[in-house]
Amino acid sequence: MSPSEPTPATAAGSASCTPDFRVGLGYDIHRAGNPLQGARPMMLGGVRIPGGPPLVAHSDGDALCHAVTDAILGALALPDIGQLFPDTDPAYRGTDSGTFLRAAVAKAAAMGFGVVNVDATVILERPRLSPIKEEIRASLASMLGVDATRVNVKGKTHETLDALGRGEGVEVHAVVLLRRG
Ligand code: MG
Repeated sequence: MSPSEPTPATAAGSASCTPDFRVGLGYDIHRAGNPLQGARPMMLGGVRIPGGPPLVAHSDGDALCHAVTDAILGALALPDIGQLFPDTDPAYRGTDSGTFLRAAVAKAAAMGFGVVNVDATVILERPRLSPIKEEIRASLASMLGVDATRVNVKGKTHETLDALGRGEGVEVHAVVLLRRG
């Protein structure tokens, strides 16, 4: 056996005994703005949010899609959403952010990885997300190509504290687990 060849034990371990998992963390924030100055209707996970503040964004401003996209890209150690889809590129003006999310899922698949689960927290003072949380969850799962039981979306307020607590934007944190195969 040459020095560069793996030992049988190492080869067996990497091929069959060690599950290849990747975890990724995503974050996004968008601030509220004046629709007369270009702020867009609030979208979360591909669902329009009635009563949500209009948001300043280059794309459609879907902070949930952006955070989950970055979590997937992060798990794969790929460039982030801002590098892959720059907000200075006119091609992405007003873009449905599901495009970014599906592109990240496709990149994962091309590298041999699939989504195990996603957990996300949306921090939004109003409206309360509970009446439409299941719709958001189903939409997000559809874009990810997984069953909705693998996707969780939690809504939190900022308890009236600071800018988020004054309803001046939305913030999302997301964690994704990928597995090879
Ligand atoms: Mg964003």
